[in-house]
Amino acid sequence: MNADLHCHSVVSDGTLTPEALAARARANGVELWALTDHDEIGGQSRARDAAHAQGMAYLTGTEVSVSFCDVTVHIVGLGFDADDAELHRGLAATRGGRRERAQAMADGLAKVGIRGAFEGALRYVGNPDLISRTHFARFLVETGVCSDTSEVFRKFLTDGKPGFVPTVWASLGDAVRWIHDAGGVAVIAHPGRYRLTATQEYALFTEFIGHGGRAVEVVTGSHSQADYAKYAAMAQEFGLAASRGSDFHSPDESHTDLGRLPPLPSPLTPVWELLAHRVQHPVAVA
Ligand code: AMP
Ligand code: MN
Ligand code: MN
Ligand code: MN
Repeated sequence: MNADLHCHSVVSDGTLTPEALAARARANGVELWALTDHDEIGGQSRARDAAHAQGMAYLTGTEVSVSFCDVTVHIVGLGFDADDAELHRGLAATRGGRRERAQAMADGLAKVGIRGAFEGALRYVGNPDLISRTHFARFLVETGVCSDTSEVFRKFLTDGKPGFVPTVWASLGDAVRWIHDAGGVAVIAHPGRYRLTATQEYALFTEFIGHGGRAVEVVTGSHSQADYAKYAAMAQEFGLAASRGSDFHSPDESHTDLGRLPPLPSPLTPVWELLAHRVQHPVAVA
């Protein structure tokens, strides 16, 4: 099964519409797809309709920003009821401070001589409620300050750099509960990316399970071969199902395309087996 259960549209910090993503996923052989915009589910009905128009099965998705041990951790939610009121409230609260944060980021950049970054970043924003660091990165590449987005993050947008603003996101428990109580499965996103000590990482997995989390991304665009093996072993140790997703954002920026990932290592339980009853299949038309 070619499942890709992690990517972003213009509803958060991707550059393609849900329809264009669905077409690209299908062209790359995806059979089961989820759009997982940051802290947002405003693109879900478009994504589902576009998936079905392409003949793909669909799972609802989102990627919730969480603060854990002073580090930002991402929790993907899959297969939830997109009309759930508590989930809507939780996501709205999580993304609520992004505009003020963006103003503060622009203030920090102005101090090192980069002017107009707030307005500049806004030009790339598809959803005014969701200004992200990625939109600032695109502005700084376009204006020639850096040559690519990873250079922008390294020089300006990570902890200790001029455009970085420490942010308190959702708690781990709240994020997992919103997803779980809406009938979905919570998934630890790209665990190989976090700057956590081994002890903190153990605590993340333990607390995540304690709150009702049931899966971890093993195969993702941001994992190395060594990460695949490490998190496959941790999935087994902790009794978690495994997910697979490219984390695709843009044809110009993402090195892993939709659907173009290795399969999950074989002894693992794919997260879509837990979610068989939540998969939305295209309706065959006679
Ligand atoms: P935010 O939620 O505004 O803090 O932005 C987080 C987003 O920035 C992530 O979802 C990625 O899309 C992007 N990002 C984070 N770190 C990097 C990096 N080193 N290079 C490129 N993009 C990054
Ligand atoms: Mn992103
Ligand atoms: Mn992420
Ligand atoms: Mn992502």
